[in-house]
Amino acid sequence: MSARREVDCCIAGGGPAGLVAGLLFARAGLKTLVLEKHADFLRDFRGDTVHPSTLEIFHELGLLQALLARPHDQMPKLGVRFNGKYMPVADFAGLPTQCRFVAFMPQAEFLDFVADEAERLPGFELMRSTAATGLVEDGGRVTGLRAAGPDGELTVASRLAIGADGRHSTVRELAGLTVRDLGAPIDVLWFSVPREGGRDDTLINVSAGHLVVTIDRGTYWQCACVIAKGEAEAVRARGLPAFRAIIAEAAPQVAAGLGALTDWDQVKLLSVKVDRLERWSRPGLLCIGDAAHAMSPIGGVGINLAIQDAVAAANLLAPKLKAQDLTAEDLDAVRRRRLWPTRVTQFAQVQAQDRFLAPLIEGGRPVAPPLPLRALARWPWLRGLVARAVGLGVRPEHVGAPMRRAA
Ligand SMILES: Cc1cc2nc3c(=O)[nH]c(=O)nc-3n(C[C@H](O)[C@H](O)[C@H](O)COP(=O)(O)OP(=O)(O)OC[C@H]3O[C@@H](n4cnc5c(N)ncnc54)[C@H](O)[C@@H]3O)c2cc1C
Repeated sequence: MSARREVDCCIAGGGPAGLVAGLLFARAGLKTLVLEKHADFLRDFRGDTVHPSTLEIFHELGLLQALLARPHDQMPKLGVRFNGKYMPVADFAGLPTQCRFVAFMPQAEFLDFVADEAERLPGFELMRSTAATGLVEDGGRVTGLRAAGPDGELTVASRLAIGADGRHSTVRELAGLTVRDLGAPIDVLWFSVPREGGRDDTLINVSAGHLVVTIDRGTYWQCACVIAKGEAEAVRARGLPAFRAIIAEAAPQVAAGLGALTDWDQVKLLSVKVDRLERWSRPGLLCIGDAAHAMSPIGGVGINLAIQDAVAAANLLAPKLKAQDLTAEDLDAVRRRRLWPTRVTQFAQVQAQDRFLAPLIEGGRPVAPPLPLRALARWPWLRGLVARAVGLGVRPEHVGAPMRRAA
């Protein structure tokens, strides 16, 4: 027999979207349960970029200083190394925000922080090692989620169910929501190597046929090598020395640590997807974050978009849920509000991957820096515009008054 629970809002997925939504709904005074299938947040890969727009949300929540007390690095400028030459890309100094930098924080640290803050609230509960496995339905309306955890089966009755379970979302599949695949010709090989030498704000390194992302984590480099989709086996077959040589050529600043890369087990394959749901909701159920729109790593904006969805959902739905007046139309209002930023961001990602990344990787030849990059190197004010586009994004959300708290 399955155990039963009853809450106002049940969220599948304790990633950025699910945990921030959980924090906000609980702050609005609603009984909120987040189901996370893993025991902790230490996964092979978690994006690390916390953008100024997200930091602004934490300022509005009164949590910015506490968040920044967690281990992180601050990048006020970002650059690209193109065929060995450094080219500046973004300068966050002029942003109209509390924080004029991108924070690079291991996502496990970030999620631990959000979970800790949420767990202080009386209405919030996070159940770890508990996976959403089914929908509870009544006459076409979703009235809760079924889950499986360490103590067996669980049935959660909820007035609102949220699918925030990422790009392989079980909830969206169970709900039969139609996915539009926008295509992604790339995958990523993800690894870290020890770091020596001074600070380096080069994030992207381009050489003949290769693009390598290098994130300076103080004691180590977190690296991502972009490869053509499905090519991982071929890269492995060419051997580790060849792989190390590619990385050293594109990103000489990490070369000294590459000797530590001795086994393919240290290199994880991350498959990239870009897609979007046609409808994000059904009566009683809403999908947000990657579950509604899987994001490419390009621009490092996925976490931030997921959190913006959570804020929009809480602003639009928490008052209705409190008033016991939540309609299917209210749920669709979240999609209507967030569709434009999602579309614009995914359009930019698809253009970058199809027009620049795929030809670079498939061509295998040196390419000249594209015109926009040359323009950025020449005109500093353009770097401010890029910082705005990346750091604030399209239609940044703000936390509604009932959920704000002074620092
Ligand atoms: C290679 C790669 C690199 C990226 N780099 C960056 C970056 O640097 N910066 C950035 O902003 N974005 C990056 N992104 C995008 C970013 O990872 C996502 O957009 C973001 O994590 C979405 O957050 P989310 O909360 O919607 O989903 P997720 O972060 O995927 O969280 C979903 C959560 O749900 C849990 N879950 C899954 N199924 C269930 C279930 N059935 N029941 C309960 N829990 C479940 C998962 O364990 C997970 O904790 C990258 C993406 C890729 C593929």
